[in-house]
Order: sequence, then structure tokens, then C-alpha cells
Amino acid sequence: MSAKRAEAAPRVAPPSHLSIRTLQGPLLGFQIVEPIYAGMLEWRVTEVAMLHGSCLCRGIRYEIDGELADALNCHCSMCRKAHGAAFRSRARVRAADFRLVSGQELMTFYESSPGTHRGFCCVCGSPIVSKFDAHPSVLGLPLGALDDDPGVRPQIHVYVASKAP
Ligand SMILES: [Zn+2]
Ligand SMILES: [Zn+2]
Repeated sequence: MSAKRAEAAPRVAPPSHLSIRTLQGPLLGFQIVEPIYAGMLEWRVTEVAMLHGSCLCRGIRYEIDGELADALNCHCSMCRKAHGAAFRSRARVRAADFRLVSGQELMTFYESSPGTHRGFCCVCGSPIVSKFDAHPSVLGLPLGALDDDPGVRPQIHVYVASKAP
């Protein structure tokens, strides 16, 4: 796990039986990453906090139960226009980890280049998530709509030749 958001101290949680592989709480995702065989009474637990995000009008809300990856700042002209900003900070998220909580009917997609669909709120215009025909298992996530600390930081700048003056 390369981008742990929070790691809890090892907890003592006697498993009732060995088939317990993961414990998914409604508020926090608890993922048991490795059992510690100290009489099989102690389990190391890594807490992966659920991330929440929403659009400006709060009509669209989403949850992410998984890690973000490849955080970067994109300076391409499409991202600048889509965000009305000097650049777009985004990360990659597994599509299976992303869940719309509300506002499904507000999600609107614009195909900014063939196969790339930028999703935004049709009421307030906030960019929410991008879909890729060639990679349906991943989504592009603008970090600006998150309500929680994403736990990752943009490490690189791309399309710097298109940088805003
Ligand atoms: Zn909105
Ligand atoms: Zn871009």
C-alpha cells in the first residue's frame, strides 16, 4: 500500500474465525492487511478512511472507499478551461471504489477528446469525475471537489508547455 492515509496502532481484536478477511465498517473502511500470529489474538489493522466529495451546490455527493494514486497537476488547455483555473489537480481512483451517494441525475458528461468523458454537475458546473472508454476500471478524480484530505499530493506537473502565463 503506497499511499496509506492513516495507520492505526495495532489493535487487539480476536477474530471469531479464520474466514474473516476484511471488516468493512459503514463509516470507516477497516482492512485487515495481515494477521499477526501471536496466538492468533492480535490483528494489525490499517484504517483507510472513507473519502467524501461533493459539488459546489452539494447536489452531487460521492464516497471513495479506496486509495488514490498518481496525483498530478495538469496544465493542458482542456483542464484549464474545464476548471477555469491555472491547472487541474487530479488523481486516479478505481471505479469500483467510487460511489455516488446523491445527484446521479445531475451528473453530465462532456467528451472533451475521443473516449475521455469529463463528468460535472449540470447545476453548478463542478468537475466531479472523468471516465475513459479505454480504461473503464479507473476514473480521473479532480482533487478540488473532495471534502476530505485526499492523503496524496500532486507529485508532478504535466503539459507544462501549455501553462497559463
Ligand atoms: Zn452541483
Ligand atoms: Zn489536462
